[in-house]
Amino acid sequence: MSWSFRIARLFGVDVKVHVTFVLLLGIQAILGYQAAGPEGLLLAFRTLLVFGCVVLHEFGHILTARRFGIQTRDVVLLPIGGVARLERLPDRPREELLIAVAGPAVNLVLGLLLGAYLAARGVPMLTFLGSAIPAALFGTTGGPDPLMTAPLPWFLLLVNVLLLGFNLLPAYPMDGGRVLRALLATRLGHVRATRIAATVGQGLAMIAGVYGLLGGDYLFMLLALFVFLAAGQEAAMVAARAAGRGIIVDQMMVTRYISIPLYATLRQAVDLLLEGEQREFPVLDNVGAIRGLLTRDNLIHGLAARGPDSAVSEAMTQPVQTLPLGLSFDEALGRLRASGLPALPVVDVGGHLVGMLTMDNITDLILVRQAVART
Ligand SMILES: [Zn+2]
Repeated sequence: MSWSFRIARLFGVDVKVHVTFVLLLGIQAILGYQAAGPEGLLLAFRTLLVFGCVVLHEFGHILTARRFGIQTRDVVLLPIGGVARLERLPDRPREELLIAVAGPAVNLVLGLLLGAYLAARGVPMLTFLGSAIPAALFGTTGGPDPLMTAPLPWFLLLVNVLLLGFNLLPAYPMDGGRVLRALLATRLGHVRATRIAATVGQGLAMIAGVYGLLGGDYLFMLLALFVFLAAGQEAAMVAARAAGRGIIVDQMMVTRYISIPLYATLRQAVDLLLEGEQREFPVLDNVGAIRGLLTRDNLIHGLAARGPDSAVSEAMTQPVQTLPLGLSFDEALGRLRASGLPALPVVDVGGHLVGMLTMDNITDLILVRQAVART
């Protein structure tokens, strides 16, 4: 994730913080210090403790995923929580269930340990939680804020109980939603289970968003928006992968396209662009080898920077990655997304251009396959 940097490495996984998270801590510290001097730093300190618990929660997911052979790229801390970026998602519902449950389980264990410690010291915990949880969720009516005033062990107990409850909400892609998806997937299959879990997640996110709006709680609204968008995105991705199952790049690529010679001018390229539907042009040298890709953006920038009589070779994207024939749908889509380009050339074993894989074409293909699957 851009705009984030590493602060630690635990169990071989980078722990990173996002700039916005540092900003949140900084603002809390500065405002607190201005209001109350050194004691005003308490809020920032307690925020750090919350995120310590979040990191432990994420490592519950990470270490369980590792047991199923799934590695983790990194953990990123954002103002709205932590995200462990697993290299892939498990295909088996049972594995997904266990990985999803492992995070909240860490909070449960921490909560039980703190609870046992406090109980041994005769602290009336249930009374505390009974008043502190509503106060933390709905704000206090005049009384002291338990998130600020409770002694540290009490505070940490409260934090872990809240993290546990919050993460178990069935709002996909949060943990509770993943549990729901995994349970549904054993009966309904991956795609339908994801669609249902995502719809439930989006419904809950909308309710939470309205609640945040009415209460003026902007962080809550942000979180709801994040859940809403992430749920839609994941559902679309799972549906796309299912629609593309069994397809290889040969069936996905565009085979009728125009290529441009390396020595052509941008003026000639503009004519080609305006003549037809094609937006990206492979650029070939005089022995037919691919030297680059001229996208519409390349063309516009080239025109603005160097004028219509400059050469295509100066404006094109190069070097450009090529895709081999026979590549699977998943792999081809992954490489196209990773390239950041709207299209990539497909080549045969001899390295000769045989087609173009474009995002537009993939979208069409997915829509067609989904429509056919429904009939
Ligand atoms: Zn989690």
